[in-house]
Amino acid sequence: MTHSDFKYWLQEIGLKPGQHVLMHASYRRVRDVFPNLTIEALLATLCQIVTAEGSLIMPTFSYCFKKSDGSHEVYDPLTSPSKVGSISEVFRKLPEVVRTASATHSFGLWGQITAFINADNQPASPLGAGSVLDWLAHVPESYILMLGTDFSALSFGHYLEIKAALPWLETSPWEYLKVLPIGVSVSGEQVLHQVPGCAKSFVNFERYLCVHQFISYHFRGSLRLAFLPVATVLKVGEAYFRRHPDQLLCPSMTCIACDTRRRMYLKSSQNSSQINEKVESC
Ligand SMILES: [Zn+2]
Repeated sequence: MTHSDFKYWLQEIGLKPGQHVLMHASYRRVRDVFPNLTIEALLATLCQIVTAEGSLIMPTFSYCFKKSDGSHEVYDPLTSPSKVGSISEVFRKLPEVVRTASATHSFGLWGQITAFINADNQPASPLGAGSVLDWLAHVPESYILMLGTDFSALSFGHYLEIKAALPWLETSPWEYLKVLPIGVSVSGEQVLHQVPGCAKSFVNFERYLCVHQFISYHFRGSLRLAFLPVATVLKVGEAYFRRHPDQLLCPSMTCIACDTRRRMYLKSSQNSSQINEKVESC
């Protein structure tokens, strides 16, 4: 498979000029099928297709939370590595990419979005109101591209948790790691109102989309791609997240973060009988 095969594939599945694309991608999986495609060439291909009338967006999260034992890192948008994959690490260093100021959940932005979201973007709910994801939810022609990844990488799932007003939102699940709900960057500390939790179970939402034919996969060899309108993910997702909050947590006793949030959910008396039934059937 060649570089031009990759470009043709993206165009074939519907990538076009003027689209705003949030990408999650695994370079290891891309390289298995397109061994000569460098990360730089991959990113250049995407930018060429969507053009500067559209946008390319990637999470460049660094998770610089304050820690109660003082062992935290301090986020510097210029130097802090992205902890969410090698493609995002190359992307954030491109000269024309703007990286946002969120100490915990920054994004790399290229194209039209930079006229609307500035480098100082750091909402108190990093993936909620006022975030890059909130912008994507409100503009036409916005899409999510999953390239060699599943929904355990879906940052937009955290936005859906907030839209669905899930009961555990105000509780940080990371206290067992000494993580405080405070971002630390070179510009100071920021108290966070909502801290995104564990995303592993978002694959249950992906399965739901698949079963109900809201998502279709495209393959080149072992590499799987999904390309979804944000409007669909938002509409179907908000309803699914409201109806199936139990499906958004890892199975009981397998994940401390999810167990922390499950306890919060069980405290809600109106939900307790329902969750017990559903958790047992997981
Ligand atoms: Zn979990």
